[in-house]
Amino acid sequence: MRGDAAEAALWARAIDLVRTHNIESDADTGPLFNDPPAGSDPDVLIRLRQMYEAGGWVLVESAIADLPADLRWLFESGAVTLDQLAELHRSLGATSAADIGDAVREHQLRELPGFTAEVEDAVATALPALRSLVPRIPLGRAVAIAESVLEPLREVPGVAWAVPVGSLRRGQDMVGDIEILAASDRPAAAIDALLGLPTSAHVLHRSERRLYVLADRVQIGVRVSEPSHAGADLFYLTGSRGHFEALRAHAAARGLTLKADGLHDNGGALMPAAAEADIYSALGLQVIPPEIREGDEAIGLASRAALPALVTRDDIRGDLHMHSMWSDGRDPIEAMVEGCRALGYEYMAITDHSPHSAASRNLSIDGVKKQADEIAQLRERYPDITILHGCEVDILPDGRLDFPDKVLEALDIVLASLHERAGHGPDQLMKRYASAMSHPLVTLITHPSNRLVPSRRGYDLDYDRLFALAAETRTVLEIDGAPSHLDLDGALARRAIAAGATVAIDSDCHRSDQLGRQMDLGILTARRGWVEPRHVLNTRALAELRSTIQAKRASR
Ligand SMILES: [Zn+2]
Ligand SMILES: [Zn+2]
Repeated sequence: MRGDAAEAALWARAIDLVRTHNIESDADTGPLFNDPPAGSDPDVLIRLRQMYEAGGWVLVESAIADLPADLRWLFESGAVTLDQLAELHRSLGATSAADIGDAVREHQLRELPGFTAEVEDAVATALPALRSLVPRIPLGRAVAIAESVLEPLREVPGVAWAVPVGSLRRGQDMVGDIEILAASDRPAAAIDALLGLPTSAHVLHRSERRLYVLADRVQIGVRVSEPSHAGADLFYLTGSRGHFEALRAHAAARGLTLKADGLHDNGGALMPAAAEADIYSALGLQVIPPEIREGDEAIGLASRAALPALVTRDDIRGDLHMHSMWSDGRDPIEAMVEGCRALGYEYMAITDHSPHSAASRNLSIDGVKKQADEIAQLRERYPDITILHGCEVDILPDGRLDFPDKVLEALDIVLASLHERAGHGPDQLMKRYASAMSHPLVTLITHPSNRLVPSRRGYDLDYDRLFALAAETRTVLEIDGAPSHLDLDGALARRAIAAGATVAIDSDCHRSDQLGRQMDLGILTARRGWVEPRHVLNTRALAELRSTIQAKRASR
């Protein structure tokens, strides 16, 4: 099951040795080590000795623990015996719940040697719970781990494309294991290249087109598909489960059958799908973005060609929230400027923390002035990007801001935020937000729910009221892309724009090398909230951004 040919051959030789010498128990094994038969393989003897000393079942258990997670959990659920698990893998090539789920739907399991309809039912019952057993990791960490495999994979000759699939591609806040799909007509080259990476020290399974490794306690699975068919695999492995089921019903209504391997025409023949678009267009649908592949709503819109065009990285003209060494950032402003220029931004805002934030280092009033001088110099040095001088000012317990208006007036943009964990009840928190939002100098509220992924849920606020207030006071709400924030989350962002509020997608970056990744996480989160470019402040040109800020300031 682990696809380790050398290990399998070693055990085959061990079995030969044991059979040849009629060894039937531990008692028979001891003499074997004292007086090894002539010509016996030393590696085999070492392995048998380990088994003798540790007990055979210990080795089996550790081998089971080293299987791809879904196989291990299926066995541990008690639905199948070890022999049945092995048969499942041998006959179907199954390495994941996705593989097994499809076989169960097609009632293939009951036909396998050693299986019955009851076992198939037991597997069907166990499957939904399997995924919930997989430990979840925050999206930001999952993206970083996936990139460590995706980047080298995309360099391998023959690899046309490689992308993450599953909940990672859909941008869920918390992700189970990391799954990657690549399209290549030379799978061996791709697998070999990955086996050479440092992340591949602990291999769980390898076969012609699949590799599973355990890196930093997280399972990474890679599949390599034939390019002519990779679109169907991409579609199936991306999910969600509910989206697949809904499209299956949609296909059936059109006389087609949707299975794990793709669409089948009414004669039963598999229709080629090099891209996901082949499947959607055969179903008379626009391609539905992965981030909104939940439920029926998107399918209805896609059938009327009425899907919204969700915001993309290309729409983003600047980043309005980041920190430098003037507060708790790691890098000087200049490094942040260079990072933003490399991303092709038209503008950026430096927004360090005010004195009462809980940050490790804060910006003093005196610091604001010195920072202004530094920014003035950098503006001369980098005329190709507009550097806005801003700050992320704390909203104090009484609702006032942590800098006097005189200081804030001199800044190009003011972001306001609550940073403390709770302390105040929902009504008091809302009062503080309301007071800050009604302040003409406040353009934007950062990370409004103040949750911490994965350990702290957001404030328990009346969000409808918050969003209505934001619309009324023309205050922008942030979708913060920092991995620990992702705040507003997709669901709240959708309610915010429905209430007429404008959002901003920011990196809230504290180091220049993460500016791009954190913006991407923000965009992924926004897309889960059905956010379009027209809803987003920082898709607007600089002049429009400035006039939006001015319009609210002028209302005093
Ligand atoms: Zn903050
Ligand atoms: Zn911040």
